This record gives sequence, structure tokens and C-alpha cells, in this order.
Amino acid sequence: SVSADAYRRRHEIIVHGDKVPPPLMSFEDTNFPSEILREAQAAGFSAPTPIQAQSWPIALQGRDIVAIAKTGSGKTLGYLIPGFIHLKQRHTDPRMGPTVLVLSPTRELATQIQDEAVKFGKSSKISCTCLYGGAPKGPQLRDLDRGVDVVVATPGRLNDILEMRRISLMQVSYLVLDEADRMLDMGFEPQIRKIVKEVPSRRQTLMYTATWPKEVRKIAADLLVNPVQVNIGNVDE
Ligand code: ADP
Ligand code: MG
Repeated sequence: SVSADAYRRRHEIIVHGDKVPPPLMSFEDTNFPSEILREAQAAGFSAPTPIQAQSWPIALQGRDIVAIAKTGSGKTLGYLIPGFIHLKQRHTDPRMGPTVLVLSPTRELATQIQDEAVKFGKSSKISCTCLYGGAPKGPQLRDLDRGVDVVVATPGRLNDILEMRRISLMQVSYLVLDEADRMLDMGFEPQIRKIVKEVPSRRQTLMYTATWPKEVRKIAADLLVNPVQVNIGNVDE
């Protein structure tokens, strides 16, 4: 529609893909569960950010996404809220392992994602846990044993726990690679590929990156299926 085009122009949103749905320009345009809308209101959010507005309807169609957008643009809820909705539709047993898996480059970033997931997921009774290195494994393993819907992890620690066979990724059907460019810069590509081998290929995969160099394009081509590309701002296409 005209207003969708105007919104995309105003916010420098460029999309590539078949029949890309129009952006959800306000919270009233979303069909989000009331628990989620209440959290957004409590956080004082007046409208979706551009990356949220454009990636929510695509993610809710179950499609793969590559999103190229800079830091601070609201990417976390861009993938978490559709992930929560995906999870609720699955009726999975958290004791069999997570349904949503988010990979993040550092302990600090993973913890921030975990905090956002807890805040927005608590009233929907979604359980989340965070796995990162530089901390004892014991408490993380105990959290996993209690059952989890969402796991946020750094690739190194998740790979260690996989090798110990203390987590199953057989139930993961919504996989997010956050800050993919940074994970590759940090040398996590082998761990990422090992982890993805444990995730069933029948899944939705979302990749978020601040830059779009050839290494990131390559891993996107290997791990995503017919993704819609969403580009915000002046990031090179
Ligand atoms: P990114 O991952 O793109 O760097 P974040 O997801 O960390 O960005 O979000 C940056 C900040 O914006 C966070 O404090 C987050 O709570 C806030 N935020 C997220 N969505 C909205 C929104 N719709 N309106 C206002 N602030 C938002
Ligand atoms: Mg982020």
C-alpha cells in the first residue's frame, strides 16, 4: 500500500523478497497477545522501531530473514516476540529442550537478550535461560534440567554443553543468529556450524547483522532458506 511505501521511504527500509508483507507501523496493527502488549506499554514504547515494524510480519509468516541494521535499533524484540508467538503455537515440552535458540557473540550481549526475554516472556510463562563462558557450568546445567523454552547462548559454551550431552536441540524450530558479523569476526564459525548440525533442518532461521560482508553472505546462504532481506538505513546491500 501507499502508506507502507511511504513508511519504508521515511525510515530507509529496503526489502528484497517475494510478496513482502507491509510493516506493522503501530502496536494496534499487531495481533500480539495482550501480555506482550502490556509489557510494551509498561516499557513506555509508543511505536515499533522500523526494524520491528518490518521484520515482525515477515517472521510471523514463518519465513527466514536476514536483517541488516545498526546497533540500538530494537532488533532483540524484533526476533523475540515472533519467537514467543512461534513457541506458543508449538505446545512443546520444555523438558525435551528449547524451541527457540538465540546465538549471541558475548556474555554481555547474551545477558542483555536474556533480560529482555525474561521481561517480555514472564507474563506469558515462558522460561528462558542463558548459557555463556567464564562462569561455572553447574547452575546453567541445573537450569537446563528444569526445562526451558528459550535458550540464549554464546557459541563456545553451548558447544561445550552439547559435547557433554546435557542439552538436546532436537526440538529447536526457531533459530536466531544475532550479531552474525561479530560472531564470525570472533572466530565462532566452526562452533556455529556444529550447533546448527544439531538443529533439525525443518526450522525458521533469522540472522541479524550490522554489516553484510562476504563471509556473512556465505553463512547466510548455507543456513537460511529463501530469506527475505530487510535493510535499514545506509548499510550496504
Ligand atoms: P539492537 O539489538 O538493535 O542493538 P536492542 O534490541 O538492544 O537494539 O534495543 C535497544 C533499546 O531500545 C533497548 O533498550 C530496548 O528496550 C529499546 N526498545 C526496543 N524496542 C523499542 C520500541 N519499540 N520503542 C522504544 N524503545 C525500544
Ligand atoms: Mg542486539
